[in-house]
This record gives sequence, structure tokens and C-alpha cells, in this order.
Amino acid sequence: MRKKIVAGNWKMNKTAEEAVALTSEIVHMIADEVTSDVEVVLCVPSLYLSTLQQYATGRVSIGAQNIHQKASGAYTGEISAPMVKSLNIPYVILGHSERRQYFGETDEILAEKVNIALENGLKPIFCCGESLEQRQNEDYIALVQAQLTNALFHLSAEQFGQLVIAYEPIWAIGTGLTASAQQAQDMHAALRSHIASKYGAEVADNTTIQYGGSVSAANAAELFSSPDVDGGLVGGASLKSRDFVNIVKAI
Ligand code: 13P
Repeated sequence: MRKKIVAGNWKMNKTAEEAVALTSEIVHMIADEVTSDVEVVLCVPSLYLSTLQQYATGRVSIGAQNIHQKASGAYTGEISAPMVKSLNIPYVILGHSERRQYFGETDEILAEKVNIALENGLKPIFCCGESLEQRQNEDYIALVQAQLTNALFHLSAEQFGQLVIAYEPIWAIGTGLTASAQQAQDMHAALRSHIASKYGAEVADNTTIQYGGSVSAANAAELFSSPDVDGGLVGGASLKSRDFVNIVKAI
């Protein structure tokens, strides 16, 4: 059975003091209130990885939001997979639409980032998704499937098994416009069958596919009830402990 994973993506938010308070609140509330075997990941600004890793207990782990595609070198301001691994951080988000849009990350760069993450024992949470314009004018299912083909399908089945996929329609990120449970289910099923066509049914069945885009405490239960939706990647609502823990409990 594949894992259910709810991850918070804090993006560029919180001071150091706020970050510690939020993490410790979430860890305590999860320990007290969550009985399912859902895994919880907090993807925090890289500046706080080291400190917040000390709070990661039980089902809560810490993740990075990005790494550079090279292991080390003259890349001022960047952080590398070996650095993240050296803190025992297990997860890293790769290919978030904001990285693709504002920082020029292409499928080719993401393939390199996925490789270096896996070489260093990090588990990528690989994001994919279409814009509103693409959804209206193109074969958006084929387009999102191609994002997987281009950045991931050079991997072996064993390597692919280390990945978490996050489907995040760009039109639903930070907009309050959530995909309906049916829209999410349709894309997740299409992605799973695309994975099966390359790696076989067993790998596809074992792949956790999260939904992201305006997930809230109010809509999480409905989204998570779809058979191919295995959790969420949560932005805005992960910045408040009560909202985030309620989303975790909706699984
Ligand atoms: P929101 O939940 O704020 O829409 O953000 C989603 C997201 O981008 C998570 O990575």
C-alpha cells in the first residue's frame, strides 16, 4: 500500500522565532490528535532546516524546498543535496511551479536535480501541473504527463520508487480556486497510468501522488476521498498550525 503524505510548503514565510513556534505547535498537535499512519512533512525555508530538524519526531519530518543541481562549487547563495543530506533531512521539493516560472527551471535542469537528490539519498517531492491557459487551450493531461516523462523517465524503477509526485494545477495555487475532487482524481489517475506504462502497475500503485493548490481544512476531506489522491502539498494553510493539522486529520 502506498503511503499517504501531507506536506506543508511554507515558501518564503516566517521569521526564525515564528518557524520554531509553528513547528513545535504542529508536532505536539499531531502527536496528540492524529491516529492514522499518515506521514507529515514540513518543507521550510533552507535557513531553518538545521534548527527545525531537531523538532522532527514521530510522523513529522522536515523537507527542503529546493536544491542546486550540482553537488558543490561556486554557486553563490545556493544549497546542495549533500548539505541537506548532512542534516538528515529526508525530503526535498523539486520542480515547484514557482521555481519553474520565476527561476527558469526547465525539465532538463529538474532531471539533474532529481538525479543529485537521489544520489544523496534525498526523496524528491516532484511537482507538476498546468497553467489555466494550458488547461483551456491544450491537451493538458498529455502536457503534465510529459513533465514526468521529461524530468523523470530516465530513472530506473528502483529510483522512481523513491519519489513522491505532487500534482499542482498552477491556476489553483494561492488563488482560492481548488480543483474539484473529480478534476484532481482525473489527473491523478492519468498520471498513475502514465507511470504504469513506463514502470509497470506495481511501481505505479506504490507511488504517492499528492494534490496541491488551495487545499484548506474545508476542502481537504473531499479531495482526499478520491482513490488516487494520496495526500496534499499545502501552501497558505500550512502556515497556521490549527488549519494544517485539520488538513492532516482529513486524510
Ligand atoms: P496554496 O495551498 O497556497 O494554494 O499553495 C499550494 C502550493 O504551491 C504548495 O506547494
